[in-house]
Amino acid sequence: MPTTTNKDYYATLGVKKTASPEEIRKAFRKAARRYHPDVNPGDKKAEEKFKEISEANDILSDEKKRKVYDQLGFYSDQIDPAQAEAYARQQSAGGGGRSQVDFDGFDFSGFGGPGHQASQQTGAGWGSFKDIFSGIFSGAQHPQQPHGPQPGTDLEYQATVDFWTAIRGGQARLMVNRQETCPTCHGQAHTGGVMQCPECNGTGQVTQMGGRMKFNIPCPRCNGTGRASNMCATCHGEGTVTRSESVEFRIKPGTRDGQRIRLQGKGNAGINGGPAGDLFLIVRTGMHPVFTRVGDDIQLTVPVTVAEASLGAKVDVPTIDGRAQLKIPPGTQNGQKLRLRERGVENAQRPEQRGDQIVTIEVVVPHLQDERSREIMRELAKLNNQDPRVALFEKL
Ligand SMILES: [Zn+2]
Ligand SMILES: [Zn+2]
Repeated sequence: MPTTTNKDYYATLGVKKTASPEEIRKAFRKAARRYHPDVNPGDKKAEEKFKEISEANDILSDEKKRKVYDQLGFYSDQIDPAQAEAYARQQSAGGGGRSQVDFDGFDFSGFGGPGHQASQQTGAGWGSFKDIFSGIFSGAQHPQQPHGPQPGTDLEYQATVDFWTAIRGGQARLMVNRQETCPTCHGQAHTGGVMQCPECNGTGQVTQMGGRMKFNIPCPRCNGTGRASNMCATCHGEGTVTRSESVEFRIKPGTRDGQRIRLQGKGNAGINGGPAGDLFLIVRTGMHPVFTRVGDDIQLTVPVTVAEASLGAKVDVPTIDGRAQLKIPPGTQNGQKLRLRERGVENAQRPEQRGDQIVTIEVVVPHLQDERSREIMRELAKLNNQDPRVALFEKL
């Protein structure tokens, strides 16, 4: 009979056997981020690894499943947690140690058959074990549907939107790799024909080690029927195929960097009629050579002359709606910030509300080319002989 090997789910997730649910959750998320098929398109090894960690997480993140797994060293839906516990208790209370009761090589399915070797070798202890196990695999006679409808998973993509589209709104496009329902088998994963199950060679049972015992459990691939449907060649039995698709989406005016857009049903297709997942787009807004966007505000640096800064002036500055006049008060300093109210970006949630434009003043010092200008500057210095460094020395 074919044997399936036990999997070390703890090693797969890289956690200790004593790991808390929180530690398991964290380890899974970390590994999932690394091996997710979306991050490794076309990488079969990563896909395999992703399946392994998903399976490990499925068992270890479920308190009941983990309990069964901890007690038996494997997990099967057919095993009742209470009975697994009873088995574990019985095993630890084993009555005198291993020399008397050695489970090695014991084929449970054969127990009780006429003239069976095991019963003669191991003696009276077996009766109680048989009682414990008689109910454990009771599900085997009623194989479940192998796969019911399963919803598709969500997808997350970053979508870069140019500076102006994010501010004014519009349409944008993005190429997305998503799993679609397989066109050959219409998501059924098989083509209708029936063949012998390759996992159990048609016997319907596989052997699995549980602690020091061997268990025969219904084959997980065919649920004990021994027959498997002919796998669809197009999707290799997945029910879905990966396709690149150009997705168009609407950008609201005022969309900010990091904003999430949800496109319902644009995630991966479901299996066996399950609903599709959603597509989440994380918007990355583009840069502009002059304007810097901070939330709904626009920041801008505007150079002014010494005369404009000291005497005051009205200067034209660019805004996202075109030119606007900015009043420079007399005595404006380099680096000072002036505000143009409601000249910023329209708020995506409250369109009647706008941000401001914040102008940082940059005083440009003239390079004096002629003697007359230098004379005037010296004259000016004489008339205004304040020392701007006084405050520095006062604080020493
Ligand atoms: Zn298919
Ligand atoms: Zn099978």
